[in-house]
Amino acid sequence: MRFMTDRYAVFGHPIAHSKSPLIHAAFARQTSQDMIYETILAPLEGFADAIAQFRRHGGRGANVTVPFKEQAFALATQRTPRAELAGAVNTLIFDDARLLGDNTDGAGLVADLTRNLGIVLAGKHILLLGAGGAARGVIGPLLDCSPATLIIANRTVGKAHDLARHFGNQVEGCGFDQANTPFDLVINATAASLEGELPPVSPQVFRSGTLAYDMMYGKALSPFLSLAQQHRASVADGLGMLVEQAAEAFFVWRGVRPDTRPVIESLRAA
Ligand code: NDP
Repeated sequence: MRFMTDRYAVFGHPIAHSKSPLIHAAFARQTSQDMIYETILAPLEGFADAIAQFRRHGGRGANVTVPFKEQAFALATQRTPRAELAGAVNTLIFDDARLLGDNTDGAGLVADLTRNLGIVLAGKHILLLGAGGAARGVIGPLLDCSPATLIIANRTVGKAHDLARHFGNQVEGCGFDQANTPFDLVINATAASLEGELPPVSPQVFRSGTLAYDMMYGKALSPFLSLAQQHRASVADGLGMLVEQAAEAFFVWRGVRPDTRPVIESLRAA
């Protein structure tokens, strides 16, 4: 019999800014789960040791963020199909012998788009900007929704082509300059917004009725969302995705689905 409160944590470097402890504390209160969730600053060269230490001290599972998602993928002794497809792990589940790696980023994005924003993805023309870890994690779940087209545009064009090949050419890779017709949905999965920069996207990808979605979130509109708004697109940031990917991880660990709406609203108001 175990009497200890179950421990979870998010590992990253840096990590102090993370909203995950607030989100999981709210989920735990809402669903009466006896658990705590902390932040752990893992040394850049010491991710595997930090995870091992956490497991020894009763850790039951972990989230993993920048820059450790690929290391978490390599460390996992088993992986879910969606983690395999993503090539990155953002959720670890510990049990006695096994270290199971999962990836909930794509499920989080799709839940935010479809449940919270009411978008139907089937038959839509989607442009995904970026070919890093976040982009790769969401391609499989987006394809599962049967869009008409999914184009990946990236600054380093070869990486967009590599990703397209990885997904069996169900997607098309190109450079930013080649994406210059209107899309129903344009997702910014580049790290440009983190640096306050605009990815070199053509304004021609936006029209009235386009949803521009930035995976980054913040109080002010990112340069990408400002440009989209100037060209009559609707805009949404990635706060909903953050909460939804956390809810999916919470479900994987605890078997209970929290209600995300009040948590998104309280973070938005904070
Ligand atoms: P990576 O470092 O793996 O990838 C970065 C990508 O951004 C690459 O495609 C890179 O292009 C591109 N890029 C970087 N700077 C620029 C620029 N100035 N102009 C154009 N392209 C640029 O990062 P991640 O994929 O892990 O993260 C991307 C974003 O997604 C971040 O903003 C992150 O915060 C966000 N995110 C949000 C989540 C959420 O829950 N809301 C979850 C996960 C990520 P190149 O290949 O040419 O270098």
